Amino acid sequence: MRLAPSSHGWLEVVCGPMFSGKSEELMRRMRRAEIARQQVCIVKPAIDDRYDAVAVVSHAGMRMEARPVATAGALRELAEDADVVGVDEAHFFSDDLVAVVQSLARGGRRVVCAGLDTDYRGLPFGPMPHLLAVAEFVDKLQAVCHRCGAAATMTQRLVNGEPAPFDGALVVVGAGEQYEARCRDCHQVGIPEPTACRSRRLARPYHPA
Ligand code: ADP
Ligand code: MG
Ligand code: ZN
Repeated sequence: MRLAPSSHGWLEVVCGPMFSGKSEELMRRMRRAEIARQQVCIVKPAIDDRYDAVAVVSHAGMRMEARPVATAGALRELAEDADVVGVDEAHFFSDDLVAVVQSLARGGRRVVCAGLDTDYRGLPFGPMPHLLAVAEFVDKLQAVCHRCGAAATMTQRLVNGEPAPFDGALVVVGAGEQYEARCRDCHQVGIPEPTACRSRRLARPYHPA
């Protein structure tokens, strides 16, 4: 059983690949806090307006109102009066998010951060590794591999149906872009164009050393 610290705030991190249910889990926790009549503040990075600019929306259509914030500093101000703070897509924030979240927790708030633990290459994403290290509670969710049906821990990025190259931009919203949840065996990273002939070791499946 998990005992929540009561005299001060704390940080919970919900991570995993795309489609693993991070946003659903964040909303479930926020709804329960609302039922308990706690003051809830949900934010998301202003960059993420794929489904809705002012709501957290899950892949299955569950939604909850959220304030878009451009920086972690803006979150600090918004969260001033909240008992519970929810941050979706936390990986898109700068490392400043860590200090803001720590200070909110020290100030007595419960903070829940949901985000991708790794990017499409399988590497730690933005402030997530630091958040995971300092959190009181961590949940790592799994999706279903789009290819084989096994538990998926990685995010596959496809560009025009092909694995995206290792040196592609991390944040791209463009035509031909597609994401899938994949298990370790099915996950693929394309090799960078200029070194394609030299680095055959990077050919699929990619496993970081
Ligand atoms: P995340 O925020 O982690 O990207 P969401 O909470 O938005 O995930 O969506 C999770 C939901 O997506 C699941 O409950 C399920 O209905 C749906 N879904 C679609 N594809 C998959 C998949 N490959 N694995 C698991 N769930 C999936
Ligand atoms: Mg999500
Ligand atoms: Zn698989």
